[in-house]
This record gives sequence, C-alpha cells and structure tokens, in this order.
Amino acid sequence: MACRGELQWFECMPTGEATVWTKDKYMATAEFKKAFASLGVLERIQGGGLDGPAEIYRLPGAMGTLGFISPISNHFCDRCNRLRLTSEGKLRSCLLQDFETDLRGIIRNGATDQEIRAALVDTILKKPKGYTLQLDQAGGCHGRMSRIGGC
Ligand code: SF4
Repeated sequence: MACRGELQWFECMPTGEATVWTKDKYMATAEFKKAFASLGVLERIQGGGLDGPAEIYRLPGAMGTLGFISPISNHFCDRCNRLRLTSEGKLRSCLLQDFETDLRGIIRNGATDQEIRAALVDTILKKPKGYTLQLDQAGGCHGRMSRIGGC
C-alpha cells in the first residue's frame, strides 16, 4: 500500500512553560529543506483552505507531501484563521497570547445563542494582528501547549 501522508516540519519556538528554549535547538526551514536537495526539486503545491500556515511541497514522483511551518523565519499571523478550544472549555484566538474566553462557563450559565455568538465574535475580534517572536525572546504564551492545542 502506498503512503500518501504528509510529513510536517515545524520550527521550534520559544514558547510555553514546558519549553526549555535555547537557540541551538532552532533550525530554520530553509536549512531543513536543503536536506532534500539530493532527492530532487521540491514542487510547491497549492492546497485547500485547510492548510493553515503550512506551505506544502512534493518531491518529484512522491505520493506523500511535505509541509513546512516557519513561525520564526516566516511569520504567518496574517494567514492564521485558527481558534482553539482548550480541554477546560476556554476559547483562544492566539497561541501566543493568554487572553481566553470561558466558553464552558458561559454555556453552563445558560447563555442564549445570541450571547454565545457575541462571545465568539468578541474572541475573534481580539485576535492579534501579529507577534514579535524572535530567536532571542521568550514567547507571550504562558500555558502548556498540550492544554492549548498546539499550533
Ligand atoms: S501567533 Fe497567534 S495569530 Fe499568529 S499564527 Fe500563531 S496563533 Fe495565529
């Protein structure tokens, strides 16, 4: 059976309480791509709207694809369309900001559909335009990625 999966490369980011970040753990996407140079020229594939921040490529003749996510070397906040619901029912519009909407609390308190919609819209409107995450900075997220749902 042929493998049609997607291998994803994600640049290591200085975020989250669980991260012990040192610059030597970082490798830029461009450097990682060079590892494939002997296998052929990577062809860029235009995926659907569900690609999110990943840039998808395929090696000549390959069934599967390679996805590259580059939060340090190529910021992609302008393309980010994600909302995340934590395991505690908190809705977040950005991984790197601690702002959350207590959606579980709102629903359990008997909110109407209109009130739930207003909470969703408020969370979306608070989504930041971008971040300043750099190699020499700690990130703005203070939660564990496993709780938040990762990038
Ligand atoms: S930092 Fe926030 S807005 Fe930017 S890509 Fe990550 S989750 Fe999306």
